[in-house]
Amino acid sequence: MPIEVNSTRLWDDIAESGRIGATEKGGLCRLALSDEDRRVREWFVEACRAEGCEVCFDELGNLFARRPGRRSDLHPIAIGSHLDTQPTGGRFDGILGVLAGLELVRTLNDHGVETEHPIEVIDWTNEEGARFAPAMQGSGVFAGALEKEAILSCRDRAGRVFGEELERIGFRGADVCGDHPLDSYFELHIEQGPVLEEEKKAIGVVVGVQGMRWYDLTLEGCASHAGTTPMKLRRDASVAAAEIIVAVNRLAGKVDGGALTTTGVIDAYPNSRNVVPSRVFMTVDLRHAEIEALDRMEQRLKEIVATTCSQHQVSGTLDRLWDSPPVRFDDECVAAVRESARKENHPFREMLSGAGHDAVYVSRVAPTAMIFIPCEGGISHNEIESATPEHVGAGATVLLKAVLIRDRHPD
Ligand SMILES: [Zn+2]
Repeated sequence: MPIEVNSTRLWDDIAESGRIGATEKGGLCRLALSDEDRRVREWFVEACRAEGCEVCFDELGNLFARRPGRRSDLHPIAIGSHLDTQPTGGRFDGILGVLAGLELVRTLNDHGVETEHPIEVIDWTNEEGARFAPAMQGSGVFAGALEKEAILSCRDRAGRVFGEELERIGFRGADVCGDHPLDSYFELHIEQGPVLEEEKKAIGVVVGVQGMRWYDLTLEGCASHAGTTPMKLRRDASVAAAEIIVAVNRLAGKVDGGALTTTGVIDAYPNSRNVVPSRVFMTVDLRHAEIEALDRMEQRLKEIVATTCSQHQVSGTLDRLWDSPPVRFDDECVAAVRESARKENHPFREMLSGAGHDAVYVSRVAPTAMIFIPCEGGISHNEIESATPEHVGAGATVLLKAVLIRDRHPD
């Protein structure tokens, strides 16, 4: 008999999780290391123990629930994501990936399946970065990309310290973060974008994550009287900014392979209706799957800034403050997901993730792949975030079968 996940049970778990930190509009507010985070962790740990899992957590509070395999000399095949949310977050972002892991364990137990590898379900601490910045702290330290001490001592806006809050909710473990080898890592997540829904695909086989670069740009002109300064004598920082915004937007269309460019912040000074703006602070966000393309986009951005500034006689200072290189997930793990989607007859497409995920960091230390399912209207980080029971079931099934392929289980 083929092994099937119980998608109703998984759906009920998502509903149950949705009661811990529920907001009035049907979303969740479950900030990392808050009382709500404690409650969902306690609930999750109890559910895992009830399935016979051994639960441990490391010094960053990353939580590992382990179902033993036939061979204890093999590292675990891990499944995970995060149970924390944005302050006005949805019920699926992150939660789906963790609870699908729990459902997978339950399914294996129901069918008496013994895997070769141990199976581990992971809840990574503070993926969202909403309360303590930056994001993806648990998986970042695990992968050696972030400094443990810096994270443990970082503070939220109320001045509370990460390490103390972790202690307070009772999830500061003794295990050294990162000293925990994994055979492989699979993360199921909602797409958080509109592509799968628009193409009526149930499954996204995620082959990697696009690279991102963030810039601050400051333009300096000269403040002057709006009624007395002739147009040709102005050094108007806002006009230069406007031309840069349009040029940056058009830049995306000139680069092959799905370039994305965004100017998300624009602040003009002194921000007074009868003063020619002297200064503009703005941000630029460039994304692409290829590092060479990002290099070309950056070069072009510099040219746009230089040319526009000289035309308007303003000065421009461009600083790159973040560079997250593109990630290619592991060929074998991706192939397992693809094969699983094909076997289960779910319409799928290969795609890149536009957003960051714990899988980005974990892929540095373990063979990794991700599975996406559609979310309604592509909307996420929003209380109205939604997905259908059918897609949730399809995603969990593809996850299960991919894990069994990785384990070389004869199903
Ligand atoms: Zn997430």
